[in-house]
Amino acid sequence: MYPIEQIRGAFPILHTQVHKHPLIYLDNAATTQKPQCVLDAIQEAYSTSNANVHRGVHYLSQRATDLHEGARRRVARFIHAPSDEEVIFTRGATEAINLVAFCFGEAFVRSGDEIVISTMEHHANIVPWQMLCQRKGAQLRVVRVNESGELDLDHYASLLSERTKIVAISHASNVLGTINPVKQIIAQAHERGIPVLLDGAQAIAHSRVDVQELDVDFYAFSSHKIYGPTGIGVLYGKRELLEAMPPYMGGGEMIAKVTFEHTTYNVLPFKYEAGTPDYIGTYALSRALDFVEEIGLEAIAQHEAELLSYASGRLLSEFEGSYILGQAEHKSAIMSFGIGEIHPFDLGTLLDQLGVAIRTGHHCAEPLLDRYGHTAIARASWGMYNTREEVDRFFDALHRVVGML
Ligand code: PLP
Repeated sequence: MYPIEQIRGAFPILHTQVHKHPLIYLDNAATTQKPQCVLDAIQEAYSTSNANVHRGVHYLSQRATDLHEGARRRVARFIHAPSDEEVIFTRGATEAINLVAFCFGEAFVRSGDEIVISTMEHHANIVPWQMLCQRKGAQLRVVRVNESGELDLDHYASLLSERTKIVAISHASNVLGTINPVKQIIAQAHERGIPVLLDGAQAIAHSRVDVQELDVDFYAFSSHKIYGPTGIGVLYGKRELLEAMPPYMGGGEMIAKVTFEHTTYNVLPFKYEAGTPDYIGTYALSRALDFVEEIGLEAIAQHEAELLSYASGRLLSEFEGSYILGQAEHKSAIMSFGIGEIHPFDLGTLLDQLGVAIRTGHHCAEPLLDRYGHTAIARASWGMYNTREEVDRFFDALHRVVGML
């Protein structure tokens, strides 16, 4: 039995009243709520173990360093990285992708080279590559998506060539929900010796990620999408690539020896971690991962899949003119939708008056919305703590709102 009561009891914010209605939080793809153990971890670390990490010989510094490096090992275990030295802490998935676009670009991309991304990318996995292309005179090649929201794999194969330097694709789409066949995508790129970065921002909390099984070269995700604190992200990278690339930012921590004439850089992972890290946040992230593993990712994924299927069925059968953007066979718990000509902002604003939090807008994926002829869309997204009753209350609210409009 899925322990829904126990899970909901662990998230204080779920008891919030919004405009005199109980909160129904369906904006989990934007960010997830935090369980008490994560909130406690922040309080506990600041209360008992706060001092700058790595450089200190004193007690508190060593405690803080232990928590921070323990968190790195926890993340490595969570994604099955071969070594915690291949786990770089960043501020989020965005910074992780920018790091690769910059450092990989400096090392390996020249004029005339190509970078392959896809139409369904979040801006965070478009703009850094565009900036790289502008710097280097390289070109972006973009894999098409079909009507159901799946990647056109024939088109993908046709884009790979000796000019392709890297493939950067989302593991799961934040609009369509599509879970891409990333193992196949990676294997096809590797046949040509091309490394692959996966943007795991939308996959990490909804499926088991095993970087070794995927044989992925870089994997990026954000802590706040997996019930951890904001401001922390993870970049996993294969050692040989991380070692071959130059550092990202300069400063403390990332150096071995500095003189005015010459600086040598620190070993992995510190080479990519200039400045004081958010060691309290990394510790809190490790507690979020413990929490998720206690429930079990497979159980969470199954629970969310049931909610998605129930909600999708109700939407299409109960509302004339309704549609769902993204009908891929493999989907994570995201339903981007519209009802006739109703503007998504009106839907979102009125639903909020009834306590229901959904997201509306372009979801940082403007080229994807363009592809389907939209400028904005409504999106409901589920997390481990949502219930079938909440889906029912969401639909009660949706009927009222559509009636009003
Ligand atoms: N990639 C995808 C698919 C996302 O959904 C998001 C956030 O919504 C990001 C990247 C960026 O994540 P962050 O803003 O946490 O860096």
